Amino acid sequence: MVVKTIEMRSVLISGACAAFLSVSPVYSGETDQALRFAIAETAETHTQEAHEHGKAELLIAWNTKELSLEFRSPIFNLTGSMSKMHDHEFVEERIKQLTNLESLLVFNQEAGCNLQEVSTQEREAHEEEHRDLTLNAKYSCEDFASLKSINAAKMFSVFPALEKIEASWISPVMQSSGVLSTSKFEVNLN
Ligand SMILES: [Zn+2]
Repeated sequence: MVVKTIEMRSVLISGACAAFLSVSPVYSGETDQALRFAIAETAETHTQEAHEHGKAELLIAWNTKELSLEFRSPIFNLTGSMSKMHDHEFVEERIKQLTNLESLLVFNQEAGCNLQEVSTQEREAHEEEHRDLTLNAKYSCEDFASLKSINAAKMFSVFPALEKIEASWISPVMQSSGVLSTSKFEVNLN
């Protein structure tokens, strides 16, 4: 029954999210391991089609100890113009702004989540001048049971070229997905 539900969701949710959800039945509560496995799967399956200007992906996994987050986006979404892609100083500045993640993607306050670690990685996309960025972050949260929502309003205002974030999340007890956009800043993590 559970597997059937997951297959249906995988069909409904295109792109990387499908692979993310398809591996989730093996999720054991070991946040890091599950997320890394899921991400390795998606990277392998969806490298070619993932690069779409205006669109980004967000994967969140947590257990009772910590929360891992991965944000993947064309760097274009940070620069807002192709000509600016060649301005390395500007690109670095925009990436640095993205790492100020706590103000850009905001979990509901009751959960008491604090950013512990953040790192970024760049790679080439389908063509040389098109590049992707992957950001990985770890959080500690005071009360995971109170984790209810994530708000990306500031993310969309700081990076106006970003139009849509396809989000997937998984905990030891549930998994789901939703879309954050310029007209829907917040999703409920349930
Ligand atoms: Zn591009």
